[in-house]
Amino acid sequence: MSEQPATAPKSLPLVFAEPRGRKKPPRHLADLTSDERKDLLVEMGLPGFRAKQLSTHYFGRLVHDPAEMTDLPAAQRAELVGALLPDLMDPIRQQSADKGKTVKTLWKLFDGSLVESVLMRYKDRATICISSQAGCGMACPFCATGQGGLTRNMSTAEIVHQVVVGARAMASGEVAGGPGRLSNVVFMGMGEPLANYKATLGAVRRLTEEAPSGLGLSARHVTVSTVGLVPRIRQLADEGIPVTLALSLHAPDDELRNDLVPINTRFSVAETVDAAHEYFSKTGRRVSIEYALMRDINDQAWRADLLADVLSAEGRGTGWVHINPIPLNDIPGSQFTRSREEDMDEFVRILNGRGIATTLRDTRGSEIDAACGQLAASE
Ligand code: SAH
Repeated sequence: MSEQPATAPKSLPLVFAEPRGRKKPPRHLADLTSDERKDLLVEMGLPGFRAKQLSTHYFGRLVHDPAEMTDLPAAQRAELVGALLPDLMDPIRQQSADKGKTVKTLWKLFDGSLVESVLMRYKDRATICISSQAGCGMACPFCATGQGGLTRNMSTAEIVHQVVVGARAMASGEVAGGPGRLSNVVFMGMGEPLANYKATLGAVRRLTEEAPSGLGLSARHVTVSTVGLVPRIRQLADEGIPVTLALSLHAPDDELRNDLVPINTRFSVAETVDAAHEYFSKTGRRVSIEYALMRDINDQAWRADLLADVLSAEGRGTGWVHINPIPLNDIPGSQFTRSREEDMDEFVRILNGRGIATTLRDTRGSEIDAACGQLAASE
């Protein structure tokens, strides 16, 4: 997949293509549709119905360790597992916070790449924040992941597996609060999901298809967060899966956004907001605007007003968005720091006053570096 547009500024590490000859992640049933799983087994001379049996274990019962699948025939076991349930990743470290209701896992992928996921249990829901790439090529200067550059795209199964393991942890009562159900998924871990479009879309399909095809989550409870790859936002709007779109805006003016979110030099604020609004028009899903509040950088009252202007321009009104200002998570050695409390309050007040639903996001897990932008997998 080579997607480097001719106009990419040279300074931006926007190489979405995988280097030639790199070993691919192992193929797993979560990479495939139900039919493809069956066809694969038949091609290998194995009974096709085993595909459904394995899928039911994986997506229906959330069993991912073949050792627990005691109904597999001994003679074909190794072949079936090798074909559809290879080991994708190993948890190498786990940290928890908020009395065990926030759990961060560091995963080692088959080639040694490291990614992280974070499960957050709330009163009425449980959300997992997952990674879509090892590292990230978007180079936002306030984001820990952005500093290390892109290692590689993750496969659909690697993306999905983080969720299946989280769903199992919830179901089995491993997460403080007793057995429960994983309800929400946010693509807000490491990586830019829309720069790994094919695998991300595959993952969204698997997450929202009914078991045993997939996990059976509601599309509206799946949020894809993006820096604003405009053509990809348009494409996503046409897929017919009403996932929630989150746009990481962080500044209402091109001058500042060019620095904070470097892809802005390719797609301006106006173009990006336009694409987000088109997403709302096509899907009916209200778009979330992410805005990390940085002291004396993007948190001025006038920028709150400008943000309201930009979002409601072109007669769009205010009902199509929801703004999520996020107190910046301080990253060691960074020139950016969190805004003062009074400035954050004023910022939120102005936007609500302009009729735009605005809620300051919590900073769950920040003490274990599990909050937004801190997933750097610095092992
Ligand atoms: N690449 C995607 C998704 C990953 S990050 C995107 O940019 O949307 C998820 C969110 O965390 C984004 O809104 C990102 O801008 C934000 N974020 C990154 N670093 C942060 C930090 N230090 N403090 C608060 N939010 C941060």
